[in-house]
Amino acid sequence: MKKKVISLLLVAVCVFSMAACGSKKEDSSTGDSGDATKKEKLVMATNAEFPPYEFYEGKDVVGIDADIAAAVAEEMGMELEIEDMAFDSIITAVTSGKADIGAAGMTVTEDRLENVDFTDTYATATQVIIVKEDSAITGPDELNGKKIGVQLGTTGDIYADDIEDATVERYNKGFEAVQALQQGKIDAVVIDGEPAKEFVKEAEGLKILDEAFTEEEYAIAVKKGNDELKEKINDALANLKDSGKLDEIVAKYISADSAE
Ligand code: GLN
Repeated sequence: MKKKVISLLLVAVCVFSMAACGSKKEDSSTGDSGDATKKEKLVMATNAEFPPYEFYEGKDVVGIDADIAAAVAEEMGMELEIEDMAFDSIITAVTSGKADIGAAGMTVTEDRLENVDFTDTYATATQVIIVKEDSAITGPDELNGKKIGVQLGTTGDIYADDIEDATVERYNKGFEAVQALQQGKIDAVVIDGEPAKEFVKEAEGLKILDEAFTEEEYAIAVKKGNDELKEKINDALANLKDSGKLDEIVAKYISADSAE
């Protein structure tokens, strides 16, 4: 009888200190990955349709943003977890707390700043125009009245919307817009410069016009008012810049001869 009471007590101790009992078990059962299970997660929302910043390699999301976010998480002693979603869901994921950060080649804009805060910028980008190789369009001024393909909710979408008399066709993926151009359904695509290069490599008969539309800056989105996380990421980004790690990551995905 006495024995039973003691063992019940032991169960009770374990129930009331679940965390301790649980983590001990995890350590022994997961072996070498035991260390990682103890780290706090940093959840990154992205849209993995945007090479070289984020794209699938097998089942994994890789790319410049994925590597930068992983390095930032490491600097902060955290473990990165990536959630792939539609580009126009990323800000909501961050504001609702579903994700801690949004890292998706995301341009800092006044509109977005109303809903989220941005870290320091980590890349300069452009919006470019893709046309068919034999197109008569030679620059942004000739887009008036044309059918323009963009990725839904991107800055390309916003710029195209401002072009006089143009019809804007919105696609969920940038590459879908590029395919529509190839099939002659639209006259041009307005999209970020680096993915444009990747897409044009994949799709024959297209070219990127020399004259870029705009210059923009990418940053990581965090929940509005979460200054603590923002500052930690900024410190981590500064370290990655100083150590040369940031350049190393970019060089891994963008070869020097194709960089602007
Ligand atoms: N830079 C663009 C934007 O922020 C496109 C980003 C993307 O499609 N992932 O809207």
